[in-house]
Amino acid sequence: MQIRDIRATTVTVPLEAPLRHANGCHWGRFVRTIVEVETDNGLIGLGEMGGGGESAEAVFRALKTSLVGHDPARLEEMRFRVANPTASLYNNRTQVLAALEFACLDILGQDWGVPVSEILGGRLRDRVRFATYVFFRYPNPRTGAGEVRTIDQVIRQTREWKRCFGFTTHKLKAGVFPPDYELEVYRALAAAFPGDSLRFDPNGVWSVEQAIRFGQAIEDLRNDYLEDPVFGLNGMRRTRQMVRVPLATNTVVVNFEQLAANALDTAVDVILLDTTFWGGIRACLKAAAVCDTFQLGVAVHSSGELGIQLATMLHLGAVLPNLTFAADAHYHHLTDDIIEGGLMHYEDGAIRVPEGPGLGVRLNREKLREYAELYRRLGGYPYDQDPARPGWAPTVPNDRWADPADGRPVEIPY
Ligand SMILES: [Mg+2]
Repeated sequence: MQIRDIRATTVTVPLEAPLRHANGCHWGRFVRTIVEVETDNGLIGLGEMGGGGESAEAVFRALKTSLVGHDPARLEEMRFRVANPTASLYNNRTQVLAALEFACLDILGQDWGVPVSEILGGRLRDRVRFATYVFFRYPNPRTGAGEVRTIDQVIRQTREWKRCFGFTTHKLKAGVFPPDYELEVYRALAAAFPGDSLRFDPNGVWSVEQAIRFGQAIEDLRNDYLEDPVFGLNGMRRTRQMVRVPLATNTVVVNFEQLAANALDTAVDVILLDTTFWGGIRACLKAAAVCDTFQLGVAVHSSGELGIQLATMLHLGAVLPNLTFAADAHYHHLTDDIIEGGLMHYEDGAIRVPEGPGLGVRLNREKLREYAELYRRLGGYPYDQDPARPGWAPTVPNDRWADPADGRPVEIPY
């Protein structure tokens, strides 16, 4: 079997409302590049990639000539062709490799008549549990609905999603407002859902001293972990010495070098594995085995997915023996998907691992066209800027917080 063609299509799919984060905002939509790898026997494998609000089409076009004729089963060889570690100073293609790996695994699964999870060792579970992943949100610019800023709004949103989807783990994405305000919000969340577990993620924008203050103030709560309170392994290590809450990261341990450093001199307790940031599902499995050996925790990270990437997270979650935490997903902030059947469903806080061959999801071509057209109309957006705070950029550590009393609507083209 040989790769005959590689196609990439940029889509933008609307979110219920713009998502605020420590470094900027998702401007009411996700921009994703959908990758189709076609083989000489007519199979089409699907991949997906983000890109901070921008299209990644060009890089797939550029790589096509070197990959046409390649056997999709030779994934290790493809790793060196696409993301040779000694060449990565010039072109870091880790996420590109991931999208191509997804597509090739999808092809292999279809060719062999098995789900990707069976190729990766076989599933240990049929459903993967997820956390709520509550963001502070601006109101939807068109409808005015969906704002999450006040304590009441955070609890109302969490309660609504718990009722609809059955979540029992609640993650608050933070680092937007002054830490004392976010502490009040987090403690109110814990009080409102006393039987549920919690996690908090300010995206690494605090000082170590601020992180210690916050971490110590939540030690009595039912925390899964405190995620990236500061940036850098050394900052995490200093925080960890003073805080009795497990620390987690998706920012400072995202490759094997950093994983080795963390095993030799532990700074982080739980490693959030991201099928995109690590360069594919198989890299995440290798990392999980290292974590298992050193008794570090693992969880599944979300970098803003549509259904193809979600399928990769589900197949990963299905085969990880040491997955003891609910996975993260931005997925329930979306209004639609580009896969057949529309958005996947939650049952009791979990999503079923697809059972069809390959990734088990197929493109809805009408939706692909519709959201490619929406991308052409709206274009990209700067993920690291906030449309309501022109000129603002956070420092690290940050002290330029947004004002929790500021409820002005934001104007974003929709
Ligand atoms: Mg994070």
